[in-house]
Amino acid sequence: MVGKGQEWPVIGIDLGTTYSCVAVCQHGRVEIIPNDQGNRTTPSCVAFTDTERLIGEAALNQATKNPLNTIFDVKRLIGRRFSDNDIQEDIKLWPFKVLEGTDSGKKKKPMIVANYMGEEKRFTPEEISAMILSKMKGVAEAYLGCTVKNAIVTVPAYFNDSQRQATKDAGTIAGLNVVRIINEPTAAAMAYGLDDSMIGNQNKAGKKNVLVFDLGGGTFDVSLVSIEKGEIQVKAVSGDTHLGGGDFDNKMVTYLLEDFKRKHKKDISDSPRVRGRLRAASERAKRVLSSATQTTIEIDCLYEGIDFTSTITRARFEMLNLELFQNCINTVKTCLKDAKMKTTDINDVVLVGGSTRIPKVQQLLQEFFDGKELCRSINADEAVAYGAAVHAAVLSGVGVGSTCNDIVLVDVTPLSLGVKSHNGTLSVIIPRNTTIPVKKNKIRVTASDNQTSACFRVFEGERLMAEDNHFLDEFEICGFPPAPKGKTKFDVCFEIDLDGILNVSSVELGTGLRNRITMTNHRGRLSKEEVQRMIDDAEKYKAQDEYQRKLVESKNALETYVTDISDRLKYVGGRTKESNIKKDIEKTFQWLESNSDLTDISAFETKFRELQRICRNSVKKN
Ligand code: ADP
Ligand code: MG
Repeated sequence: MVGKGQEWPVIGIDLGTTYSCVAVCQHGRVEIIPNDQGNRTTPSCVAFTDTERLIGEAALNQATKNPLNTIFDVKRLIGRRFSDNDIQEDIKLWPFKVLEGTDSGKKKKPMIVANYMGEEKRFTPEEISAMILSKMKGVAEAYLGCTVKNAIVTVPAYFNDSQRQATKDAGTIAGLNVVRIINEPTAAAMAYGLDDSMIGNQNKAGKKNVLVFDLGGGTFDVSLVSIEKGEIQVKAVSGDTHLGGGDFDNKMVTYLLEDFKRKHKKDISDSPRVRGRLRAASERAKRVLSSATQTTIEIDCLYEGIDFTSTITRARFEMLNLELFQNCINTVKTCLKDAKMKTTDINDVVLVGGSTRIPKVQQLLQEFFDGKELCRSINADEAVAYGAAVHAAVLSGVGVGSTCNDIVLVDVTPLSLGVKSHNGTLSVIIPRNTTIPVKKNKIRVTASDNQTSACFRVFEGERLMAEDNHFLDEFEICGFPPAPKGKTKFDVCFEIDLDGILNVSSVELGTGLRNRITMTNHRGRLSKEEVQRMIDDAEKYKAQDEYQRKLVESKNALETYVTDISDRLKYVGGRTKESNIKKDIEKTFQWLESNSDLTDISAFETKFRELQRICRNSVKKN
């Protein structure tokens, strides 16, 4: 198998829009790795303050008081252009600022703006994603007690080439070698494939169709994968890029605002701070309602000193969201229709994404599949990372259980790829749903007499006319001798590697002149130099985080020490011999107060040593 023997450990990372999860295969089984807070998933959130950078829970927890510099949802930005319609819509809703990049390429990147240590900084989506990836790397390193270099990172099945490339670059910036990018539904199916012991068991003939229902924090993806003789293929994808847990939270926020109005005769819906606090409380309540049938929300001093209490039942929550839940089922219908399948053709329904923990969602889905048992033995919000870790184990030759080493993973191209022909149509070279890796050639000829140069415009998509599809890039071959039209021939080659990354080249058969697409800025991709600069920056930020940690430590050490000494002095009473120390203690307290903003570690350390010396000397004199 390709890549087998990859240096262990290879971790699996589910880099989610709202939450990320990391897993590793060890001692023959998959372990989901808890973070420093003990949580098995980590918010995909990064925040910048005047003094530090925060990632994960710490970032999310301060979001309401620092909304402009708390960055989330970067997965929506990665690998896309600023001008992208979806991005323009999202920007209207995000509290943080996103600007058009000033790079020289034709397709400008979105740049995220944040104030960090009193300076305005601009980050590419790759850099922010890299911060989350490096957090997950750190989580794994703390758990395994060794350096982690290799990872498999998952992406949605519908991610195009540039989104995959950008995700890979994010890994590089985070100091990770991304050994493979795999599709989220494929990973989830793999997680269950194991339980099934269906994959790898070559004797057990027959094909299995698996519907992966992934309802996360902000997106909803339905994928139909088929598993046959140990091969997993994505057959069809469908979904809603703006439906998920966040929408359910919002419904509850609206309800709570009305409840407040009813109880306290005040409309407080305009206050962003109130909304922020209600949203956080709603998310917690929603989670509780997945296991309890009722919960109470209590928020002290929500508005003008008013404490707010509201009890919400599961039935109420379901009523608020029923329409959204129903939409999910409609999307499943569409996906089945696309794949030309009926509910009875589906062998397994796999639940993925934290929001599938909602009992009503499970109930509606189960009813739609005529009461079929859903696969839910693996935590829905961990299934993707779990599958990625299984794949990682295969690559590093570690193995899980006995059958795992036989697994072959097959991913497919989500969209057709081709070049524009003379008549403006898309000449497809690699049709969608082609198994990757793949290499395909096609002979193209000149369109007019005496041409000495030819342009190749590359698109992805399913529309007939090339320009109606998503333009990827173009390149030229120049300087071949003139000839009547149709006489000059080119061999155009499209090649997609195991990560789903595309390379296009063309060679003029008479002269051997050739050209290929260079994947730099032109395609919105980072250049080698840019990646290197970002790696350096990432190191710098890491060093700054470390400095900040030490600073807080040195400050705390001094504070603890003076407080301690001062308490002890109180205890021994006001004897005259200690009175000079008392003065020093007083002075240190004052110094701490007036230097609370000081960022010089050595100043705190010096003060600490000074005080220590004075106290020791005084003890000796005694
Ligand atoms: P992503 O979109 O990043 O893939 P996840 O699959 O981790 O996200 O899902 C995150 C969403 O799941 C969040 O909106 C979170 O509130 C929700 N969630 C997590 N646990 C539960 C639960 N027990 N009940 C309901 N919703 C949950
Ligand atoms: Mg997810």
